[in-house]
Amino acid sequence: MPELPEVETICRSLRDHVVGKTLAEVEIQLSRLIKWPTPEDFRSIMTGRTIEALERRGKYLLFQLSGDWVLVVHLRMTGRLYYRAAGAAATGSPRVVFHFAGGDALEYYDTRTLGTLYLLRQNELNRIYGLSSLGPEPLTAEFTPEYLSTGLARRKGKIKSVLLDQAFIGGLGNIYVDESLARAGLHPEQRAHELTQPEVIRLHEAINFVIDKGICGNGTTFRDYLDGIGNKGEFQNDLCVYGRKNLPCPACGTLIVRTEVGGRGTHFCPQCQPERK
Ligand SMILES: [Zn+2]
Repeated sequence: MPELPEVETICRSLRDHVVGKTLAEVEIQLSRLIKWPTPEDFRSIMTGRTIEALERRGKYLLFQLSGDWVLVVHLRMTGRLYYRAAGAAATGSPRVVFHFAGGDALEYYDTRTLGTLYLLRQNELNRIYGLSSLGPEPLTAEFTPEYLSTGLARRKGKIKSVLLDQAFIGGLGNIYVDESLARAGLHPEQRAHELTQPEVIRLHEAINFVIDKGICGNGTTFRDYLDGIGNKGEFQNDLCVYGRKNLPCPACGTLIVRTEVGGRGTHFCPQCQPERK
């Protein structure tokens, strides 16, 4: 699933290609991806509008359209946006195609079809609970060691599950949580409220570090992630634990273990990330 660095990379790669473009036609091949309004209204309201800006919040992409409308896209597991230049052939079977007036297009692909698209007025964005409830993002002024410390002290769940809660910290997912815990030397099943102050400080630094490195590396291509113009990410080359079951830990050589925490596949080094009873 694309996480903050991947969605940020998609946003940056698309921005120059789509901002300022006017939508000539919206082609919907799979209606159930459109969560609001009806597919008919989605198509008719968007047609003729211009994309004025493209932003990211958490894992959401927000296309600001003329007339105060916003197209909100969440890619979920396998959603992918691809900018196709005028005259270039489609590269597969897009589920939704946003055709621009100049003959170019923005294509939405989705193998597992779990993605969600909404068209809302600017002042209606709170209808999307996951968006309106987003917690502070890493690398922002709101995401302080104090915020993390206070929040963890109130949560008794396993640290891995707590960090995946988008209402607590916006944008983290499986890859970057596993990498953050590895860098901070914390066992994924450690209870959040049991973390010591030095551990919280290490975790805060680790989260900001891996998110920054992820963005600088244009995201992680583990399975099918590509940016908005078809390029792979590079952060998969720098992963310490994620996807590295039975491979040696880069720090100590111990074999990485894969387990499940809260139903999510979880990778860690048993030597560098011991569970503290
Ligand atoms: Zn290790």
